[in-house]
Amino acid sequence: MKKQTAGRDRLAKLAPEFARLNDDVLFGEVWSREDRLSLRDRSMITIAALLSAGLYPQLKSHLALGKKHGITKEEAVEIVTQLAFYCGWPKAWSAFPLIEEVWRDGEYAPALPFPVGEPNTAFARYFKGQSYLKPLTLEQIPTFNVTFEPGCRNSWHVHHADKGGGQLLICVFGRGWYQEWGKEPRELHPGDVVNIPANVKHWHGAAKDSWFQHIAQEIPGENAKTEWLEPVDDEQYNRSK
Ligand code: MN
Repeated sequence: MKKQTAGRDRLAKLAPEFARLNDDVLFGEVWSREDRLSLRDRSMITIAALLSAGLYPQLKSHLALGKKHGITKEEAVEIVTQLAFYCGWPKAWSAFPLIEEVWRDGEYAPALPFPVGEPNTAFARYFKGQSYLKPLTLEQIPTFNVTFEPGCRNSWHVHHADKGGGQLLICVFGRGWYQEWGKEPRELHPGDVVNIPANVKHWHGAAKDSWFQHIAQEIPGENAKTEWLEPVDDEQYNRSK
């Protein structure tokens, strides 16, 4: 079972073999044996090991992963309280602020280069998962920064226009996907640009395991209007690894 984790994003160039072992063996084989030990239990022991070693940046990542695996804030506090006696009092002091950060506002987002803005409630019904919207300018060419949590994507949609129109995406963070109806999905990385013609059915969003940000520009056109269609179902989305 292949898994894509932060390993390949961060280390593919510098240490490709390490990234492969991290993703394919550590996460793909060991973490995936949920029949032997649940993801929640695996998160707990990993948190204990990282706190014991004082590896705080890794600890923060694994607290966030533990949260995904169902560990509550109260449980994280209890874990660290007990570990204080086995690993050292100052380590617990260092860990509590990480818990605060990871469980702040109910969500954990990594450091993102552009402002995230507000939860995208106005368009939430056209998205699966949580997205955030930050208008950068509404003059000349309306420009928005869109942030997708891992696994979040928008529904199939069409930017209609009689003349001109369409949408321009500039990817600025993480890993994501773009797909036009009837075509293979296209993987997106920072610096990639997607020129979406008017009247073409498509969707865009984050990879399963990566936050994703793109800047979206609405290209002015005659009678420009976005039509929202059916959601991207899991079967369609799961072809985008
Ligand atoms: Mn679009």
